[in-house]
Amino acid sequence: MYLKKEVIDVDKNQTYLLNLHKQTDNEIEKLRPFAEENQVPIVDKLSLDMIKQLIRVHCPKHILEIGTAIGYSAMQFASVNEQIHVTTIERDEKMQRLSKQHVTQFGYDDQITLVQGDALEQFENVSTHSYDMIFIDAAKAQSKKFFELYSPLLNEQGMVITDNVLYHGFVADIDVVRSRNVKQMVKKVQQYNEWLMNHPDFVTNFLNIDDGLAISIKGESK
Ligand code: SAM
Repeated sequence: MYLKKEVIDVDKNQTYLLNLHKQTDNEIEKLRPFAEENQVPIVDKLSLDMIKQLIRVHCPKHILEIGTAIGYSAMQFASVNEQIHVTTIERDEKMQRLSKQHVTQFGYDDQITLVQGDALEQFENVSTHSYDMIFIDAAKAQSKKFFELYSPLLNEQGMVITDNVLYHGFVADIDVVRSRNVKQMVKKVQQYNEWLMNHPDFVTNFLNIDDGLAISIKGESK
């Protein structure tokens, strides 16, 4: 059936799907209200469910995450199955303490390695093996640098997932941005998306879900 676009209420769809997904929430989901109260940005719920589904299909064993925050996404990825190991990098000391506490509290010490420091300086510490998946979720203006630095560690057919590629809707509509700093950052995200789309070694799919996800697969033909 054809429905005129304005008849479809995207927010209602979102609310409906969020409620539907709630039925299968795990223990780690209890950290979401904590993150909201403390204004720590964590991956949005429907994006997370999409990534977990990709993990189930793709079966990565080694995942590298840039941007741990409180450890929420790293533990969610590890929760898919016990064979998964997540190496995750965080530069903020408060977040390092909180993620350590949470990883122990939820029982993921064996599956998660917490690396402390700026991700642009941690290559030596995490390059002891290759990865099947990289999740880029740190400073948004630096996504390209993270991608360039760490994608050589990715196995063939491995995937890089980048969060916030639509950044609050500003990427598609930069003229509404007043702040000079935010505008600079949004321009960087726009440039990153263009660069990613045209990367000769990766095929990227951009998803209009939550704040925008880019899924890039290495070595696929265009
Ligand atoms: N992935 C987390 C989740 O979904 O649960 C959320 C990560 S949060 C959006 C981004 C985190 O990246 C912040 O805690 C910030 O301190 C960290 N960060 C930003 N730039 C970084 C860098 N260059 N190196 C390491 N961590 C960085």
